[in-house]
Amino acid sequence: MTPLLEVSGVSHSYHTMEGETKALSHITFSIDKGEFVAIVGPSGCGKTTLLTLLDGLAVPETGSILLNGRPVTEAHGRIGYMFQRDHLLEWRTILENVSLGLEIQKRLTPQARQELSRMLDAYGLGEFSSSRPSELSGGMRQRAALIRTLALKPDLLLLDEPFSALDYQTRLTVCDDISSIIRQSGRTAVLVTHDLSEAISAADRILVLSPRPGTVRAEITLDFSGENSPIRRRNMPQFSAYFNLVWKELKTQ
Ligand code: ADP
Ligand code: MG
Repeated sequence: MTPLLEVSGVSHSYHTMEGETKALSHITFSIDKGEFVAIVGPSGCGKTTLLTLLDGLAVPETGSILLNGRPVTEAHGRIGYMFQRDHLLEWRTILENVSLGLEIQKRLTPQARQELSRMLDAYGLGEFSSSRPSELSGGMRQRAALIRTLALKPDLLLLDEPFSALDYQTRLTVCDDISSIIRQSGRTAVLVTHDLSEAISAADRILVLSPRPGTVRAEITLDFSGENSPIRRRNMPQFSAYFNLVWKELKTQ
């Protein structure tokens, strides 16, 4: 099977008045359809840069990124990007917010609108479809942001530290919610985080990046005997073993 995403020998630098910052070096990995991959690494190691390249928003200095065998820069609309902040618009209701992507792409048909209402119901936001973002909790806002992204039915979903603005307790619940929504929808996802427990609790596989310039230091496939709930995984004996393994990779200089 050809992988959905193929990243080969990607390096990238930023050039500013102060000089050159090498952000990523020789990154190679691939992701199969339906996989949930987490990328962990210290702050500043190039995680957001990597997602920007995967999204085709920037072109790598060297190397190639293919989605379904074609350059990712030609994959318009096939990739969904969820940011650290939810970017919900206060002057729009929740239903109008989740409709935004489809509206921009001129795909907001009556059926699409109905499907959005169904998704809001399914993900516990049905009663809030006419509310404004400020009336929702942080976790509910992140769920709305996810629905807005999933509505576009992307082949690949990119999540950049989506829980980092939430307090610890909310973060655990929202991570559970959001990973189960992603798994139910059968989407392929890349979750970037600096929180290794989050990565271990949610993903099928983890890529550990080194400090800047980011290189792939280790690739760890997680086996939780089919258990996909992040909260339940945290109580399984494998969890601490994986934690130690990833921690050791992160710590190595
Ligand atoms: P992470 O998301 O892992 O924290 P980033 O990808 O945001 O890391 O940044 C990697 C490195 O590249 C950092 O040293 C950062 O300062 C630098 N960097 C990021 N964006 C830019 C930019 N637009 N211009 C110059 N340097 C940048
Ligand atoms: Mg970042």
